[in-house]
Amino acid sequence: AELAPELRSTIERRMNVLGPGYSLIYREPVGFVSGRGAHLFDAEGNDFLDAYNNVPCVGHCHPHVVEAVDRQMATLNTNTRYVQNDLVEYAERLVATFPVELSRVTFACSGSEANDLAVRVARFHTGHEGIVVTRYAYHGITRETASFSPHLGTGSPLGPNVRLIEPPDPRRVPAGTTLAEYMREQVRGAIADLERHGSGLAALITDNAHTSDGIFTDPVGYLQVMIDEAHTAGGIYIADEVQSGFARLGESMWGFQRHDVVPDIVTMGKPMANGLPLSGVVFRPEVSDEFGRNVRYFNTFGGSSVPIAAAAAVLDVLETERVAERVLATGTALREGLREILAESAHVAEVRGAGLYIGVEIVTDRDTATPDRSRTEAVINALRDQHILINGTGIGVNVLKIRPPLAFTFDDVGRFLDTFAPIARTHL
Ligand code: PMP
Repeated sequence: AELAPELRSTIERRMNVLGPGYSLIYREPVGFVSGRGAHLFDAEGNDFLDAYNNVPCVGHCHPHVVEAVDRQMATLNTNTRYVQNDLVEYAERLVATFPVELSRVTFACSGSEANDLAVRVARFHTGHEGIVVTRYAYHGITRETASFSPHLGTGSPLGPNVRLIEPPDPRRVPAGTTLAEYMREQVRGAIADLERHGSGLAALITDNAHTSDGIFTDPVGYLQVMIDEAHTAGGIYIADEVQSGFARLGESMWGFQRHDVVPDIVTMGKPMANGLPLSGVVFRPEVSDEFGRNVRYFNTFGGSSVPIAAAAAVLDVLETERVAERVLATGTALREGLREILAESAHVAEVRGAGLYIGVEIVTDRDTATPDRSRTEAVINALRDQHILINGTGIGVNVLKIRPPLAFTFDDVGRFLDTFAPIARTHL
């Protein structure tokens, strides 16, 4: 595909003014001027199927969200230091989606800020410094959260009190043991190492779709023993639901619910307000209240009126459109369709995921299971050339990351599979 001259010129000016830190996706970058549902439109009116963006969860420009934001913006937009009934009502509604033990919420603007606060509270509450995360996890961009985000690579140093464990990939479990036992032993080992170096465990943190590690959602059920180990060491457990929350994995609202556990702290962000900056930290009060009494935390934009109006509209849509149920059905249809297309593929190790978070692991050959990054990139770019948007993830950047807005319909599933099949025949 030839890039339109206008797009090419914008890309050049972008590079000059924004610098090399701003990366673009795809060999032939794309630019959009409007969106609707799970579709994005470029300046020429081409309809791209968005199978990648989780932030516009109920769909690009969902009319109910647009209307709520418009109305609130024209009425009042102010901060949490004034009494606003809408803020309190939203907080109550949000907290009601959690187990009863989790009953306090603090608002911020990004997932990074949410995790930053969660870890500060964890350290205040436990008196410990140590953090345990998975091998290639990503939890944020602040200096603090980057210090426990190994995904950022060797140029971004890990904190001295950070320890890594392998993600829950069932294929890694040694013979004669279980996934739960494997994960428990790893947490135990990481804590022992922290203690040997003089710092106890403040928090175990996991993204329960393990999206940066390569998307590991199943089987569930191993999480409780990991939490038990954290508690035994005097630490707490933080569920990072920035990726897995808000019905993304289908059926339930939160990823941790699939494991039937109750975290001590839960962080959330991205899809919370369908694209307006809003994030949240939900706590057990016995973990957070002492911090609240002793440390001033005021986040200027966190929880201001307009993002809260958007977030309330998102909850409305999740409820009235029964989104979690639909996601289970569309996600299953997409995953099963992919499995059928890829059953005989020499270069696909696994199709996995839950709800509308799907990973396809691409390897040089099935026997050695060596990650094949260039083949993965070829598929991502071939799909882009056919106007379908996805990306890659995982330690070897060899896992197709398929994560559409939850507004993805069965028609969208059909278009995705019809376009994917010939590309798979060529590349996989
Ligand atoms: N946690 C997870 C699991 C994430 O995927 C991300 C963002 N990719 C963050 C935290 C950070 O969120 P934000 O970009 O809103 O700061």
